[in-house]
Amino acid sequence: MLGEVINGKEIAQELRMEMKHDVSELKQKGYTPHLTVVLIGDHPASMSYVKGKKKACEETGISSEIIHLPETTSEKELLHVIDRLNSDKSVHGILVQLPLPENINERHIIEAIDPLKDVDGFNPVNIGKMMTGEDTFLPCTPYGIITMLKRKNIEIEGKHAVIIGRSNIVGKPVGQLLLNENATVTYCHSKTINLKAYTQAADILVVAIGREHAISKEDIKTGSVVIDVGINRMENGKLTGDVNFDEAQKKAAYITPVPRGVGPMTITMLLKNTIKACIGLENN
Ligand code: NDP
Repeated sequence: MLGEVINGKEIAQELRMEMKHDVSELKQKGYTPHLTVVLIGDHPASMSYVKGKKKACEETGISSEIIHLPETTSEKELLHVIDRLNSDKSVHGILVQLPLPENINERHIIEAIDPLKDVDGFNPVNIGKMMTGEDTFLPCTPYGIITMLKRKNIEIEGKHAVIIGRSNIVGKPVGQLLLNENATVTYCHSKTINLKAYTQAADILVVAIGREHAISKEDIKTGSVVIDVGINRMENGKLTGDVNFDEAQKKAAYITPVPRGVGPMTITMLLKNTIKACIGLENN
C-alpha cells in the first residue's frame, strides 16, 4: 500500500482562490493589501524568490512593490528604509529578503520591522506571541505545514511529532505550532545521538535538514505522516527533498513530495499574513 500524497500545490491553489475572494471584498471596502519586499544585492536565488512573491501577490489581487537596494547598502541605510516603511500607512506588510550581506546584522533588521507589519513572523515580539499561543503572524513555512495537516484532517492532538532541524525559520517554530496543537514534540539536530530511534517513533515526522534523501523507509514508522521541508538540487539539476520519497511512501500513511509539497504553501501563507496585516492595520 502506498501512502497518500499531500499535494501542497493543490492546497495552495485552493487557499489562493479563497484569498482572492477575501481581497476583492477588502477592495470593495476601499482597502488594498500591500506588501513591500526589500531586496539587497543581486543574489540569483533571492531575486527569483522575490519575483515569485510578487507574482503570487499579483495573482491574488494584493498590491506589491520591490525595493531593490545595492549590495553596498549599509545597515544604517537599510534601517532608514525600514523606518520609512513602518510609518507609511499604505504599506501593510514588510519583508526583507534573507540572507543579507555580511555587513548587515540580520537580527537588527528583523527587530526593526514593526511587529504589526512583520508578515514573515520573524520579529521576536511575534515569536513570543506564537510561543504563548496568541493570535499573531506565524512564520510562513511552519504555518504552511500546519495548514496542510489541517486541510487533510490529519489528527495532531496526542501524536508524537518529531522534528529534525532546529532553525529559527523552520524547525523550532514548526515544533512550537505542533505543540500548540497538543502534539508531544521531540526536536532532533546534528548532535542527536541515534537519530533513527526518534524518527522510528514518530507519528508525525517533519524533516528540515537540507540533505538529499537523508531519511528513507527504514527510518520511519509504518502509518506515519512524513513532511519533507528540504529543498536540494540534484546533480541533474532537478529538485528533491530530504526524504527518499519513493521508498518512504511505501511505509507512510501520508507524505509530502518535493517539489509540489511544502514549497508552494510557504508563499501562500505570506499572502495570508499580508491580508491579515491589512485587516489589522486598517481596523486600528
Ligand atoms: P538550516 O541549515 O538552518 O538548519 C538545518 C538543521 O538541520 C539544523 O538544525 C541542523 O542541526 C540539522 N541537521 C543538519 N544535519 C543533520 C543531520 N545529519 N542529522 C540531523 N539533523 C541535522 O536549514 P533551514 O531550516 O533553513 O532549512 C532546512 C531545509 O529546508 C533546506 O533544504 C531549505 O532549503 C529548506 N527550506 C524549505 C522551505 C520551503 O518553503 N519548502 C523554506 C525554508 C527552508 P544543527 O542545528 O545541530 O546544526
